[in-house]
Amino acid sequence: MDFAFTATEESLRQEVRSFLASLPPGSQTDSEDSPNVALERALAANGWLTMAWPKEYGGRGATQMEQLIFKEELFEAGGTFDFLGVQLAGPTIMVHGSEEQKRAHLPRIARAETRWCQGFSEPGAGSDLASLQTRAVRDGDDYLINGQKIWTSNAHHADWILLLTRTDPEAPKHRGISMFVVDMKTPGITIRPLVQLTGVHGFNEVYFDDVRVPATNMIGELNRGWYAATTTLDFERSGIERNLVARRDWNRIFGLLGSEAMRPALQGRPATWRHQLADLHIAIEAGQWMARRVAYLQGKGLVPNYEASMSKTFNSELGQRVADFGVNVLGLAGQLRGSKYAPAEGVPAFRFLDARRLTIGQGTSEINRNIIATRGLGLPR
Ligand SMILES: Cc1cc2nc3c(=O)[nH]c(=O)nc-3n(C[C@H](O)[C@H](O)[C@H](O)COP(=O)(O)OP(=O)(O)OC[C@H]3O[C@@H](n4cnc5c(N)ncnc54)[C@H](O)[C@@H]3O)c2cc1C
Repeated sequence: MDFAFTATEESLRQEVRSFLASLPPGSQTDSEDSPNVALERALAANGWLTMAWPKEYGGRGATQMEQLIFKEELFEAGGTFDFLGVQLAGPTIMVHGSEEQKRAHLPRIARAETRWCQGFSEPGAGSDLASLQTRAVRDGDDYLINGQKIWTSNAHHADWILLLTRTDPEAPKHRGISMFVVDMKTPGITIRPLVQLTGVHGFNEVYFDDVRVPATNMIGELNRGWYAATTTLDFERSGIERNLVARRDWNRIFGLLGSEAMRPALQGRPATWRHQLADLHIAIEAGQWMARRVAYLQGKGLVPNYEASMSKTFNSELGQRVADFGVNVLGLAGQLRGSKYAPAEGVPAFRFLDARRLTIGQGTSEINRNIIATRGLGLPR
């Protein structure tokens, strides 16, 4: 395996870095609970958001590695984007959608004109996703949808939802599921906020009450939605974001530990944290190569499965380790906000709380370890 970057890739890295540096200070970053649409549109205008997509759907026909380099630079600068559209819904439509669906949705995602959410989990269907109960029943040219989704990230900002429904309750559970794309403004959809322990409103409950959806909105074949869903889950676990977030947090802690403002708080404390800092940095480098390996395999036309689970599990647990280290080493000074004695403006404490979700969303660590055990190591179920 050869991971050396080419001259073209290095030049792309410089191009993205210079562009982000040229933006007004602060405009590269997101707030905690609302998207930075202006940044996404600016990135989209440069063709970067979906650069690995084919040109006819709004991409640049770039490689997966170039796409990854863009993300590395964006996260380094503090930014992010609507990955639910760009990395989940878009690629799923690309693989399983009709030509008409691709032309209707993909260019708009590429231009950052539409935002998406993922309606998979239900109160009784998380890890065991195939137990989902939201019903879609054929009614003329439409389907009528009734049921409830939960933990739906960004539903309150979304124009469209990628939705899993049960279309045949008599069939074995994996074979009676169909996938739809649904306009979030359709009558009968109610969104209720779920506020996380950080105080951020990131996800929601979404209720469907006789929601009428054209049959042409089905993605893939009737009762074969499970296969489309597994494609979405593979894409979901393939990203390098978790590693980049861990690196961003590490960089922040590193900067604080060396700062004048932290000097009084660190005085007289044993310096064992230096070793922990080094250990975490080694793990961040290793995790980055795991994530780059996933992009490398995608670039070879392969569909990383257990490799994506390895990267997801390692990097999300690493994110928690870095966040735990942050609150431990910065102590009370890392928790305070809004005072001259608050050198970190409470960010380490926020990151500690926020990192709890990393090992649950996109498949829990246990579920991903099951995948690594069975599909990676070939162990029996
Ligand atoms: C931040 C965040 C964002 C999310 N965003 C979305 C979203 O946008 N759309 C969406 O559809 N869902 C979303 N989810 C939901 C997420 O996919 C589920 O929370 C996750 O799949 C786990 O399901 P559950 O919460 O029902 O837990 P459960 O499945 O009830 O699991 C409970 C515990 O049992 C363990 N467990 C379950 N089965 C097994 C097994 N077979 N072997 C070993 N251990 C097992 C789990 O690992 C876990 O520790 C999000 C979750 C989080 C935290």
